[in-house]
Amino acid sequence: MIEGGVSDNGHSIVIMDNDETTGSYYILFSLYDLLALSHFGQRLDWRKTMEIILRECEELGVFRPGLRAFLQNIADMKKQGVVEKVCLYTNQLDVRDVYHHPHWKTSNGMAWSVPEMIRVMFEMMVDYDDMNNTDFRFIDRLYTRPVQVNKEIDNYPVKDLARVYKDLYPHERVNLSRTIFIDDMYHKKYIIDSSKSKTDRYSRCSIPAYSRQLEKNALGLIVDKILKAHRIELHWHNSILRDSVESSWIHLNSNIHNKNTGRSPLVKTMERIRQFFQRPIRDASIKAKAKAKANSEHKKPVKSRIRKSRQNGRESAKNKRRTRKRGHTSA
Ligand SMILES: [Mg+2]
Repeated sequence: MIEGGVSDNGHSIVIMDNDETTGSYYILFSLYDLLALSHFGQRLDWRKTMEIILRECEELGVFRPGLRAFLQNIADMKKQGVVEKVCLYTNQLDVRDVYHHPHWKTSNGMAWSVPEMIRVMFEMMVDYDDMNNTDFRFIDRLYTRPVQVNKEIDNYPVKDLARVYKDLYPHERVNLSRTIFIDDMYHKKYIIDSSKSKTDRYSRCSIPAYSRQLEKNALGLIVDKILKAHRIELHWHNSILRDSVESSWIHLNSNIHNKNTGRSPLVKTMERIRQFFQRPIRDASIKAKAKAKANSEHKKPVKSRIRKSRQNGRESAKNKRRTRKRGHTSA
């Protein structure tokens, strides 16, 4: 049903969490720090650099196994029109200078962030016809932690299921019937629905957290390949910086425990996404509306009926006891 040009079923959106969902991205933060703080980060060609990072990340196991096929399936669904928008939502900070940290800018002056690096690598991983059209990308939007909002549970900033919909379709009523949010966090608790649309039940798709401890020399390996491709040699002061970033990363990496390193979580998630977009939403929404209407109309009578039947129950129990009593006395 279309009302005022808006489908009653809502727009179809896939939202993917980054960390521990599509990959174990700790190394990207260290790499980002080094590129932002060193003098050579600004001299790098973005495409050449991202291609090296992508290749190394795939080989090292930074991405969850099966991610390339998973992303291609979603890209295919987007090409077929089954999915309208694909977004990344993360609690990584998009703007690093909130901690007075410099940006990493590549030779073309483009400022990067870790989520932006992940977005570009995802787009390099899939065959998507419109990839070169900047207005029509595979990953439509990036959503990161709203810095000003302090809404937290157990010191963990919550994500909003309705935020993407409100942002993409600001003039429409939020309808999450066709929005699916894939995340490793415990959903009911950490993903709120600020729209209270009551269509969010199926939208929360949980996936077990993925984490991977990498080889000790992984960061150095990537940095060396980037430097070699750009014919850059490190000066002594940058070697000190590199050593300090590398040693802090090695310390962090040694505390990471391998979790869910097989392909099956992503295979199962893909099945869940397919089922989600194939299910008969119209019937479900009509049923839900009818149920809500029936509940509101019969609220009082239902309650009074229950009360009455309880009273009747009590009375009949009393009567039974009475009869039994009488029966006993008479016996
Ligand atoms: Mg996560």
